[in-house]
Amino acid sequence: MALLNFLGAIQQVTGSCYLIETYDKKKILLECGMEQGGDNDHHEEHDNAKRSAFTFNPEHIDAVVISHAHIDHSGMLPRLVAEGFRGPIYATDATCELMELMLLDSAHIQEKDTEWENRWRARRGKRPIKPMYVSEDAARVLKLRRPIDYETHTEVVPGVTVAFHDAGHIIGSAIVELKFTEPNDSVRTLVFSGDLGSTCSPLMKAPSTLKHADLLLLESTYGDRDHRCNEDTLDELVAILEQAHKDGGNVMIPAFSVGRTQDILFHLGRFYQEGRLPQHTVYLDSPMAIRANDIYYRHREDFDEHNRSMLIKHNIHNVDDWLPILKITPSPEESMAINKVKSGAIIVAGSGMCNGGRIIHHFKHNLWRKDCHIIFTGFQARGTNGRAIVDGAKTVRVFKEDIMVGAQVHTLGGFSAHAGQSQLINWASQFENRPELYLIHGELDKMEILQSEFKKRLDWDVNIPELGDRIAL
Ligand SMILES: [Zn+2]
Ligand SMILES: [Zn+2]
Repeated sequence: MALLNFLGAIQQVTGSCYLIETYDKKKILLECGMEQGGDNDHHEEHDNAKRSAFTFNPEHIDAVVISHAHIDHSGMLPRLVAEGFRGPIYATDATCELMELMLLDSAHIQEKDTEWENRWRARRGKRPIKPMYVSEDAARVLKLRRPIDYETHTEVVPGVTVAFHDAGHIIGSAIVELKFTEPNDSVRTLVFSGDLGSTCSPLMKAPSTLKHADLLLLESTYGDRDHRCNEDTLDELVAILEQAHKDGGNVMIPAFSVGRTQDILFHLGRFYQEGRLPQHTVYLDSPMAIRANDIYYRHREDFDEHNRSMLIKHNIHNVDDWLPILKITPSPEESMAINKVKSGAIIVAGSGMCNGGRIIHHFKHNLWRKDCHIIFTGFQARGTNGRAIVDGAKTVRVFKEDIMVGAQVHTLGGFSAHAGQSQLINWASQFENRPELYLIHGELDKMEILQSEFKKRLDWDVNIPELGDRIAL
């Protein structure tokens, strides 16, 4: 009988990680995500490069399965390899492609952060620390990738197959179905929802539905509420853009490079095609988002049916066919040139929460101006500049300088990449045999609300596991 260990994203959102041991002692790691957010003060941390980052020996893992490329699901892979993992890493094609840019970027951040930290340490006579991992580790991960198509069953270790089903969250995202053949030839099925998409994204399909599982791991990021996502949100966006045009300033849209940016650009393209976009230029100021666009459009056969046929009809092969006033600015020089543009521009820039990335450079030139606008389209975590602005801060600190928030601030809901409460419950209710259900990837208070909703609506007792729990499949 196979055993499942809950190692990460337990009663929290980040750090997705589950270890499965088969009856004949093979080990499969489902997800290898990084914990993010929380305490940003690393100064008192131990020398984390010396200790193992895992509660298991990476050399003993036979195979890894990854649901999608977000760092909280894949970000520890370079460390796993640095600590001796040499097996195959299974993921969809698009996930394999996205992992390349995300893991190399993550390694770069680790290196830079450590450099910064070590300068601080040197001034205090403390010994230097090593980064969690470096670019070479990320490069070694890339060699272990095994891309597989959606809806095919592939053997990952003897007696265990994996199949990926579209989760509709970001391009390449998957619901993971693992089938275990036991010694008596009976088959047990584990389904892991991964991050389930909402119906808000114009590019992603609705999550696939599955009929059978013995054990179900269900994400619960928004287990406490339903999303509002409809045409109203888009009309609101158009109204803001019109107002900004009248005011004569620029519009800043901080957005995550993978997923949200592609959705926003698609909407802006639609407004352009419909003659509803008054601005003269849309700048995409994020090297990662620029590369992610290419991956998205290369995989456009996976787009939502309706919009895919619209793109085919208009002979659209990439985002600039759809939004011809898009100007990409991969180099720092091109990025800085945007500073000279005083009006009529929409600047979509990296770093969704405004604590780093190119968006903060634009703050210096636009945030203090009353004729400019800033539009938030995603969650802003506590302690970030983005959250401070949303909460009405008068100034934010950027590059050791306090910048006044003069721009008009807008928060638009309705762009979520995660299923809301009712959608989660409906999705789970489509399993015909009512599997044993465990809630993961959510904060405890939200899970408890979702748990009681399952009880109330379906009289279904679902579980909230503790970190380190181990269950039999
Ligand atoms: Zn995700
Ligand atoms: Zn996630």
